Amino acid sequence: MIKIILATSNPHKTEEIDAINKNPKIVFDIVQGDFNPVEDGKNFMENAIIKAQEASRIMKTYCLADDSGLCVDALEGRPGIHSARYADTQKQKISKLLNELKEVPFEKRTAHFTCAMVLTDGNGKIIHEEEGKVFGFIDCEAKGTNGFGYDPIFYLPEYNQTIAELPEKIKNTISHRANALIPMLKWINENLL
Ligand code: IMP
Repeated sequence: MIKIILATSNPHKTEEIDAINKNPKIVFDIVQGDFNPVEDGKNFMENAIIKAQEASRIMKTYCLADDSGLCVDALEGRPGIHSARYADTQKQKISKLLNELKEVPFEKRTAHFTCAMVLTDGNGKIIHEEEGKVFGFIDCEAKGTNGFGYDPIFYLPEYNQTIAELPEKIKNTISHRANALIPMLKWINENLL
């Protein structure tokens, strides 16, 4: 069995990571104490490294970080690594984004979520990295109540629904987080167990 500390204080991420993990030998716990890393990396992977190494410094054991966000093509990839800080509340973030895109026709509203995951050991050494994406469109209005963050405006043509309308079970098989975590769990199973 291996215990891995999640380098995040976002309860939605921890819930999704626990739901995606089907391996009973891999157990996640949350970081304790004063966890406030300065996320000043240039991309998702650099920020994930900052978070994982800070958690390893505090916890002195295996730590896994998830840095994620929404990249909109018509906005040259914004909000990107600034997704969490794009506006004050999640409602404001969604209205700001819809407003920025109000002149953009549906077929040009392509976007993707990215999730960079980094696993560090008890000394903060990076031992594995994965990146996952999911592609879709920014809808013209918010729909659905599942998930979190920008899920109500992220439309998946193959389901004809936003991610927030999809059952969470399905989000957890197709999301950017699942696409990073599933190979990460496979790597952990093959190399650390
Ligand atoms: P981080 O904590 O810096 O990785 O911030 C990630 C931000 O990106 C979150 O606060 C959300 O606004 C957004 N985000 C990341 N993953 C998701 C997701 O699965 N659904 C919707 N929004 C997400």
